[in-house]
Amino acid sequence: MAQPSSKSPVSAALARVERGQTCTGCGLCAAIAPGAITMAMRPPGYLRPQQSAPITEAQDAAIAAACPGIIVDERPEAGAPVDDALWGRSWFTGTAHSTDAALRHQASSGGGISALLVHALATGMVDFVVQTGADPLLPTANITVASTNRDDVFAAAGSRYTASAPLADLETWLARGRFAFVGKPCDVSALRARARQDARIDAQVPLMLAFFCAGIPSAAGTGRILDRLGVKPDDVATFRYRGDGWPGFATATLKDGSQKRMSYADSWGDILSKEVQFRCKICADAIGNSADIACADAWIGDEKGYPSFEERDGRSLIIARSANGKAVLDAARAAGRIETQPLDMAQIALMQPSQARRKKEIVSRLAAVAVTGRPYPRYLGLQIGAAARLAPAKQHLRSFAGLVRRLVQGRA
Ligand SMILES: Cc1cc2nc3c(=O)[nH]c(=O)nc-3n(C[C@H](O)[C@H](O)[C@H](O)COP(=O)(O)OP(=O)(O)OC[C@H]3O[C@@H](n4cnc5c(N)ncnc54)[C@H](O)[C@@H]3O)c2cc1C
Repeated sequence: MAQPSSKSPVSAALARVERGQTCTGCGLCAAIAPGAITMAMRPPGYLRPQQSAPITEAQDAAIAAACPGIIVDERPEAGAPVDDALWGRSWFTGTAHSTDAALRHQASSGGGISALLVHALATGMVDFVVQTGADPLLPTANITVASTNRDDVFAAAGSRYTASAPLADLETWLARGRFAFVGKPCDVSALRARARQDARIDAQVPLMLAFFCAGIPSAAGTGRILDRLGVKPDDVATFRYRGDGWPGFATATLKDGSQKRMSYADSWGDILSKEVQFRCKICADAIGNSADIACADAWIGDEKGYPSFEERDGRSLIIARSANGKAVLDAARAAGRIETQPLDMAQIALMQPSQARRKKEIVSRLAAVAVTGRPYPRYLGLQIGAAARLAPAKQHLRSFAGLVRRLVQGRA
């Protein structure tokens, strides 16, 4: 058995992440060093590792090789027909929705993720699904749940724009059986990296799903939504961030049964998007490159071409990123659980303009972090150079100078 490291009680990997403020909050480090590292809420409301005992050198090395605050290695699986600088690998790109109308309505966009999960459970591909749902004890917060049937998946459908650490209990899930995993892109890339160290993961996790992610906002951001709605946190019985329509409303249901709600444009656009943790602002993998299948909002443009948040029937963007993902999608379609329409990848930039901009600016943002002497994640296989060449020098200068200024002023 490996002995606890005598060099320092503090994990060198975690210390590096702390210096760079590059923690995503995924929880993988807690799974690698159970008992010594736990995830805890830290102001203004992000999940962060807390180390309470020394860890072994082997554990520290395992964290350093898989933590998405240190490395994201997406060197591609051979054979993907498309590997686009902005939108990544694809075996199939389309729009999609669940054929279960109630699930489509309940879900965040078209219920693409939930439809695939229901398919995986119904066909016995997996025993359960590891996903994120509302914490019954604190309805604005998240917990990781194990869903075993369509109703469980229904209950956990919808995006929850606050911290989640779905990998923290990885050992529990691996001890329990075969499962599908849903997470943020960083959660999935961390699980993929951990699979290179732990053979149980490839054997027991046949399906990994991610959604496009603009970043995790703080719990303080949710508090600002409640303030604006005039709701006291103690009065909240349930809270949803969106879904129940597309995009649906941020909705607080109070203990007296009344509801207060806010549009997605206001909750995300005005409040939550301004509360996003730093690591997400320098994320080169916000579109789920390492998932088998990634889903997003297939926003429809308004008359000026910008995504419109007018309520309508939900529509997901779906990208099968591996041969396995395409096979699962094909089977779910053949079983009548999901409908898809092929989409030209060039159309994604109209649906996801912020993600296009982010990918083009990653190199200039990382340069800004580097000149201020902070560590940042190594990104491999994500074509960040090719993406940067799609933006004019002026845009890079602006993004570089803006981030340097915010870092120096402590506002990043
Ligand atoms: C923080 C955040 C940022 C996002 N940013 C973008 C973006 O930039 N562009 C975009 O198109 N879409 C974004 N989304 C995703 C989008 O809102 C939809 O989830 C996506 O369109 C998939 O829709 P769906 O109907 O297929 O998902 P559903 O069928 O509703 O399934 C959603 C799944 O996501 C899981 N989930 C919800 N919240 C979390 C969480 N905090 N952590 C881990 N898992 C969670 C649920 O458990 C469920 O399995 C974001 C979501 C989140 C939570």
